[in-house]
Amino acid sequence: MQRIAIVGAGQSGLQLGLGLLAAGHEVTLYSNRTAQDIARGRVMSSQCMFHSALQIERDLGLDLWGKECPWVEGIGLAVPQADGGGERAVDWVARLNAGAQSVDQRLKIPAWMDMFERRGGELVLQDVGVEELEACALRHDLTVVASGKGEISRLFERDARKSRFDQPQRALALTYVRGMAPRQPHSAVCFNLIPGVGEYFAFPALTTTGPCEIMVFEGLPGGPMDCWADVDTPAMHLERSRWILERFVPWEAGRCRHIELTDDNGILAGRFAPTVRKPVATLPSGRKVLGMGDVVVLNDPITGQGSNNAAKCAHSYLQSIVARAGSAFDAPWMQQTFDRYWFGYAQWVTQWTNMLLAPPPPHVLQLLASAGSVPPLASAFANGFDDPRTFFPWFTDPDEARHYIESCAAVAA
Ligand SMILES: Cc1cc2nc3c(=O)[nH]c(=O)nc-3n(C[C@H](O)[C@H](O)[C@H](O)COP(=O)(O)OP(=O)(O)OC[C@H]3O[C@@H](n4cnc5c(N)ncnc54)[C@H](O)[C@@H]3O)c2cc1C
Repeated sequence: MQRIAIVGAGQSGLQLGLGLLAAGHEVTLYSNRTAQDIARGRVMSSQCMFHSALQIERDLGLDLWGKECPWVEGIGLAVPQADGGGERAVDWVARLNAGAQSVDQRLKIPAWMDMFERRGGELVLQDVGVEELEACALRHDLTVVASGKGEISRLFERDARKSRFDQPQRALALTYVRGMAPRQPHSAVCFNLIPGVGEYFAFPALTTTGPCEIMVFEGLPGGPMDCWADVDTPAMHLERSRWILERFVPWEAGRCRHIELTDDNGILAGRFAPTVRKPVATLPSGRKVLGMGDVVVLNDPITGQGSNNAAKCAHSYLQSIVARAGSAFDAPWMQQTFDRYWFGYAQWVTQWTNMLLAPPPPHVLQLLASAGSVPPLASAFANGFDDPRTFFPWFTDPDEARHYIESCAAVAA
């Protein structure tokens, strides 16, 4: 039995910890917040997870909310006409082959922490700094750092070759509400792309007080949706959310006449630079630690992939650790473990997400517009959120895009 330490009790840290316990390892998990801090604290994410990430959770017996949590059944896209008249130039929706779900991390993480302890894991409440990390690395066969956007993540060097940006690309905000009129005839992530302003999307979720809708705002820095700096009360945050809809997304404002916040902590505003980091950090003693989840691949939430990535990263690492049975977790193994995740999966998610942060090139505009009249193309878009590798090469290459539109149109005909 090998002894493994994990720093950070979030999506990836807890999922890996619970997976390792099931595989017979001895696991210590460090969290800088108690379950109660998290449950009573501010929302952290909109955490919409698609089929294959949800399936990983189901396989580990971690899906405690499958019946309660509303399903997200499709993905839709709207783009307003350029004349500012409030009409839509692009407007389509496609069904997901299998539903997505979003369980508020304030519900999920405390429940998983409890499950982790009940299944025999050791949970240590500690804000881990370099000194504590040294102690962890000394006492364990492997130390994995899954601290998300926490300060300690900076121990891992930014990989300039893999990081396209060094500044935040969007001003982010979340508003958890109830009272939004459901989308008809089925639920969906209603994604709205407003050129020169940013993006707005909303979808159903489960929060601490029951079903809700999560509104996600992605404002271009310095633009009119980058408007949260002077917001200092929850009521003002809700008002600002309404203002954005009325001003830029009037067709969504209609659904929001009776919205109210789920709770005063159901709001968030902030920004960060999307960053890929090198996976192995060397401590002052020379010992090595391995980064996981957002520590190593931090994408902008525009494509809603972070929790999905965290789940898939933890799953890939679990397989690598189990396969290593009895041998040392040395630096070459750590690098290979990350490479398996990066080259096999995450690089495609990062490339696609970064493309959507930049002004769309003509072939992407053509793809988005064509999806309105070519249902198989709309379906490919929607279902690509579950596995963004499927966007390649047709999303990135103009010739491939043209061929793909033609082949989808032939299928539709
Ligand atoms: C606005 C917004 C919207 C989002 N929407 C989506 C979405 O719709 N779909 C999606 O898939 N993803 C979404 N994400 C991203 C997603 O939430 C994250 O990518 C995911 O939670 C990352 O998981 P993780 O395990 O790497 O880190 P986290 O879940 O962030 O967990 C890290 C944990 O480590 C703890 N920690 C930090 N430092 C220390 C320390 N020094 N010692 C001990 N503990 C420490 C933290 O308290 C935290 O609990 C969104 C993110 C944002 C900001």
